Amino acid sequence: MPEASRVAIVTGAARGIGAAVALRLAYDGLAVAVLDLDEAAATVSADAITSAGGVAIALGADVADPTAVQASVDRTADELGAPTVLVNNAGITRDNLLITLTENDWDAVIDVHLKGAVLMTRAAQAHMVESGWGRIVNLSSTSALGNRGQANYVTAKAGVQGLTKTLALELGRFGITANCVAPGFIVSEMTRVTADRIGTPWAQYVHDRAQAIPVQRAGEVDDVANAVSFFADARSGFVSGQVLYVAGGPRT
Ligand code: NAP
Repeated sequence: MPEASRVAIVTGAARGIGAAVALRLAYDGLAVAVLDLDEAAATVSADAITSAGGVAIALGADVADPTAVQASVDRTADELGAPTVLVNNAGITRDNLLITLTENDWDAVIDVHLKGAVLMTRAAQAHMVESGWGRIVNLSSTSALGNRGQANYVTAKAGVQGLTKTLALELGRFGITANCVAPGFIVSEMTRVTADRIGTPWAQYVHDRAQAIPVQRAGEVDDVANAVSFFADARSGFVSGQVLYVAGGPRT
């Protein structure tokens, strides 16, 4: 498929890693549907792309809502063309030790990361199968390997890896690859909230986390965007079902 006709959907792309991924894919020549809960917030990322000469639209949708998901994928197909690249990036944390973890916080995290990825993928893969080509990139995390106080998030991020491998097996015959990018500590709003929650000043938190990372620095959103770009590339078609840790070391 020629690069010019490729269309991507990036979820949770109003800020942070998703915004960086959306911008990077636009630089790579893709038209990008920037999806986030709040369409006005997504518009800021879409405008950044269009003002840099790219093609983008903004979509407001909750990835855990099947009706909103289908409407977003339909709108992307109508306005930009068949979405053949999907980046399932939307995510939340609701951290607590198991003994204080509420059912609501369990459900919310599982819904966004896992149900969201499944709903988005199910809607988008129809276009990929019809096109005989597709790239699915799911955001996992080093937390998939276990992390105190994150039973819900850890379970979701490990589940994303299993989902990805299954998508690779089921969809490979249609020219579709599915891979995971699993970041370590990345500077973003999500990690700022964690620092606030545990009461550590942000600069101190970043410094402490960086000390424990083999390359001795915190990750940036562009570090993740670069890995996503590799998996989304047309030349990466023989790489599928993989998990790439982007963590400044084997894991942090
Ligand atoms: P972030 O700054 O909190 O951004 C997440 C974005 O997702 C926000 O714009 C958020 O919108 C949106 N979102 C949340 N729930 C949604 C839903 N139901 N439907 C649509 N959009 C939704 O997080 P980030 O740090 O960029 O993380 C992006 C992804 O990378 C997540 O999957 C995260 O788990 C993963 N990750 C991050 C790190 C890290 O260190 N930052 C490490 C490993 C993995 P609202 O603002 O409206 O909530």
